[in-house]
Amino acid sequence: MKVIEHIEQAQGKTLFSFEILPPKKGDNLQSIFSNIEPLMEFNPPFIDVTYHREEYEYKEFSNGSIQKIVTRKRPGTVGICAAIQHRYGVDAVPHVICGGFDKEETENLLIDLNFLEIDNILVLRGDPIKSEGTYQAHPQGYSYANQLIHQVVDMNNGKYLHDEYANGATNFCIGVAGYPEKHFESPNLDTDFYYLKKKIEAGADYIVTQLFYDNKKYFSFVERCREAGITIPIIPGIKPISIKKHLNILPKIFHIDIPQELVLAIEKCKNNKEANEIGIQWSIQQCKELIEYGVPVLHFYSMGRSNNIQRIAKSIF
Ligand code: FAD
Repeated sequence: MKVIEHIEQAQGKTLFSFEILPPKKGDNLQSIFSNIEPLMEFNPPFIDVTYHREEYEYKEFSNGSIQKIVTRKRPGTVGICAAIQHRYGVDAVPHVICGGFDKEETENLLIDLNFLEIDNILVLRGDPIKSEGTYQAHPQGYSYANQLIHQVVDMNNGKYLHDEYANGATNFCIGVAGYPEKHFESPNLDTDFYYLKKKIEAGADYIVTQLFYDNKKYFSFVERCREAGITIPIIPGIKPISIKKHLNILPKIFHIDIPQELVLAIEKCKNNKEANEIGIQWSIQQCKELIEYGVPVLHFYSMGRSNNIQRIAKSIF
């Protein structure tokens, strides 16, 4: 079932969902199930699975040969989605990125997902890998997420890269990313907002936001979307702080602000156990206010941890 149908069916009740990362290459699937199982009691109608490009570098060997060495890989997004749907009967939402793919590969991936009866995808440009520095589009691929959305919409209309297949039309529900505090490459919020609208015009069905710690940022983002005529659901992304180092790591990776009140509270903590507790309490307050505001879904970034999300969900659902 589509994410937007789950939201419609809930008739205004806030739903619970979360995102998981595939295990690093060589790890087995058990770590994923241990991540998911403690959260199943909150009846997530869908679970997102991120996609990660491999990190690599070129190394010159003593015989003069130059070889590509893969330094980091988290493969398995498609397989994990199929396993989730099969094992839990819950809709899996694979993240489909532009980076590293040409259009033919993207088409093949979407055909696989369709055959696996996956109804939803989150369409993203993807982050640059370390060796790239800034994002480099594949020569036969895409520079921006909205271009990939056009390909998905074409397939939903039975139009593939080289042929029309009315009977083979896909029917994907398309999610996209939104940034209440602006995307880091955008010169300002207005420009970022302009391109967000392009994704909606291209055919996006719902938005999931980057994580944030100040609800006011989410509220003004939603209000701005509504004023601009964007009526699709806007799902807030929540990530509880769980270690003291998050104060530095999260702004660096996600380009977001952490409110001073939360910073001071975490700085006072003697250890990570205390920081985790503060993080949980902050998220609980955030979630209560967001439910009051009428958000369709609370979407948690689990990043391999379930205990803190379980505590938060227990006190709000
Ligand atoms: P886009 O919407 O393409 O925007 C990228 C930048 O380009 C923005 O600054 C935008 O304003 C600008 N822009 C857009 N269109 C144009 C245009 N036509 N001309 C000029 N400028 C333009 N990354 C992963 O690699 N894997 C994941 O699984 C993943 N999951 C994510 C989930 C969520 C909910 C979020 C919020 C992010 C996720 N990311 C993931 C990170 C995401 O890939 C990065 O933030 C990436 O840098 C931007 O992706 P996007 O889809 O928002 O890009």
